[in-house]
Amino acid sequence: MKPLGPIPAGYGAIDGELAVAGRKASELVEQAGRTPLFVYSRELVEQRVADLRAALPERVALHYAVKANPFAPLLAAMTGLVDGFDIASGGELEMVRAAGIDPARISFAGPGKRDAELEAAIAARVTLNLESEGEAARALTLADRLGVVPKLAVRVNPDFDLKGSGMKMGGGAKPFGVDAERVPALVRTILGAGADWQGFHIFAGSQALDAAAIADTQAQTIALAARLSREVGQPLAKCNLGGGFGIPYFPGDVPLDLAAVGAALGERLAQLPADLAETRFCIELGRYLVGEAGVYLTRIVDRKVSHGETYLVTDGGLHHQLAASGNFGTVVRRNYPVAIANRFDAPVEEEASVVGCLCTPLDRLADKAGFPRAEVGDLVAVFCAGAYGASASPAMFLGQGPAAELLV
Ligand SMILES: *Cc1c(COP(=O)(O)O)cnc(C)c1O
Repeated sequence: MKPLGPIPAGYGAIDGELAVAGRKASELVEQAGRTPLFVYSRELVEQRVADLRAALPERVALHYAVKANPFAPLLAAMTGLVDGFDIASGGELEMVRAAGIDPARISFAGPGKRDAELEAAIAARVTLNLESEGEAARALTLADRLGVVPKLAVRVNPDFDLKGSGMKMGGGAKPFGVDAERVPALVRTILGAGADWQGFHIFAGSQALDAAAIADTQAQTIALAARLSREVGQPLAKCNLGGGFGIPYFPGDVPLDLAAVGAALGERLAQLPADLAETRFCIELGRYLVGEAGVYLTRIVDRKVSHGETYLVTDGGLHHQLAASGNFGTVVRRNYPVAIANRFDAPVEEEASVVGCLCTPLDRLADKAGFPRAEVGDLVAVFCAGAYGASASPAMFLGQGPAAELLV
């Protein structure tokens, strides 16, 4: 039997059934009217934000990386919880604006911004995190044409990466940001053009569970920001320190020691060089804010045996859960936390694989794991589904279409 990932804290059972925010899985499916269904718990997101506020220095603002989950009711709930929103496309700009979020709280990073996207962001007074000299030139030309003073920051490609992170976004050649040594010249161009200079965005990686590695990266990020602003010869208004806080997805993963990250950052901020004395710092988090607050519920439509192996065939699959299927940036497939939702309390009785309804062997939600005996009609819960689920899976594959979504 292969192990399953750890079920996140905050989930309980009512009458033996998985409960989210005090409501049974079957009730939530009834409310949504169908499966597959993503359920996001407002309470768990609020708890996570409260934990972050308690652990991090007060001076550090909290931003939400919208690409993790742009579900409209969730964005609306986030407006009162976080300080800023980081977007990565014109589509996300429309989503955050539709949620009524003040453009002064929005920053826009991401390579390959089209002219129309730059224009929409500049016109709305959104901060652009510039990814290249070419993009900077286009933004300045477009702003000039619009008669708007653009709010510009520069995304720096740091000379280091976040150790132990699942996805490295800095260190060496990267499509993201401007190589550190070319940043001062670009900032001088931006200042010379009369733009509203915002500061630096330095993002070194994602999905790290090691507090010491995060603290080390934050220290290097602050040192880099100090060195660059000294070279520019201007005090730095803002510095986005990136994020990269990970969540436990797989067997053996241990939750991040948030208190250790907060304490190390507090110490670092207490010894800032003069160039950064007035700087406003922020971190940007996606999965850490919402990942563990989401569950994907899918119904078993068939139970079958092939060459002695039991398959629980569901009406969901990788078209909503690409990451849980092991096909979103993982090298070795390991099991996410998965359970039979309506037998949440029941003991393990058999080994089975949970598969999706797509005609591909890649469509596997749990591989040879231990479950109570499940029948057709039962509900399977895939945890850690609040981030990079609905928004990062090929919902149109095999004409399946999107899952239902519910914020409770
Ligand atoms: C994807 C991304 C994030 C969010 O990453 P998480 O691992 O979900 O926290 C933050 N910042 C940037 C620049 C990103 O590309």
